[in-house]
Amino acid sequence: MGNLVQKYGIKKPEEYLKLSQGTELGVGYMEQMILDSEEIFCGLTNDQMEKKFAKQVKLAKGLPEWFSRMNNFVSKKDYRLEHHVISAGLLPLIRGSLISSYFDSITAGEFLENSDGLWRIKSIIDPFRKVEVFKRICKGKNAHDDIPLADYYIKHCNSFVFGDGQSDIDLFRYLRQRGGIVVAVFEPENRTDFERIKDLMKVDCPEKSFANVVVPRDYSEDSVLSKIIQEKVCEVVDSEKECNVSFELIRNWKLGHIENPELCSFVENHFNSCTSCRNRYFPTVYFS
Ligand SMILES: [Zn+2]
Repeated sequence: MGNLVQKYGIKKPEEYLKLSQGTELGVGYMEQMILDSEEIFCGLTNDQMEKKFAKQVKLAKGLPEWFSRMNNFVSKKDYRLEHHVISAGLLPLIRGSLISSYFDSITAGEFLENSDGLWRIKSIIDPFRKVEVFKRICKGKNAHDDIPLADYYIKHCNSFVFGDGQSDIDLFRYLRQRGGIVVAVFEPENRTDFERIKDLMKVDCPEKSFANVVVPRDYSEDSVLSKIIQEKVCEVVDSEKECNVSFELIRNWKLGHIENPELCSFVENHFNSCTSCRNRYFPTVYFS
């Protein structure tokens, strides 16, 4: 950190990300780390990141207890929960974290290294790749076959995606169109962060909004997030029994993309009488 202050005048770790402004999300800071590999990071290795620094990453409130609690909650509904991470961050920092044992898969940025430390970028998870990775996870074994969404190993309409930023927008939009539940989180009690995410998610305009829920990032048992996610799980389970209309139809009708008048009136009638579709359509926003 001392060198960072001398070289770049940086006072807080998050200011490091600003050094690579102008480059695409996920790409810039990784390039910058390679440039600084020797001078600033003193030959840092993947192993050091995983075994030493990952444990210092601060977890959101309520983690890791959230995972086993939600697993139990969902298994009582006769479903099995999986947790996957798709991150613009660094793989060793996630793999070495105190919550990594709960994840079924982790996809994140990776470095190759040589004897001097970080050497080249091996892979980057940019915003568009998040969608590809998500689709691959949901398809399961048949990743390269064209199969209907209803036959996916994990159905889109049964998926929940959590995220907090710009690099999540494409994935959010993709899943929201297909009826999945998008949860946008922000720093608890931070009004500025709340306004940022609310604008980013366009929640004032349901037909364009990217999120189903905007809620503070607090995963503890009695938090608003825990309560609303449990409600949404129940809605998703009920929806499988009660509604057989693809949410994409609702979304396209609301956006005015359906031209056939008979199809329009079918979708309109369904929407007005289906609680599941209405619950999925209107975003809910909590500040605290
Ligand atoms: Zn419906």
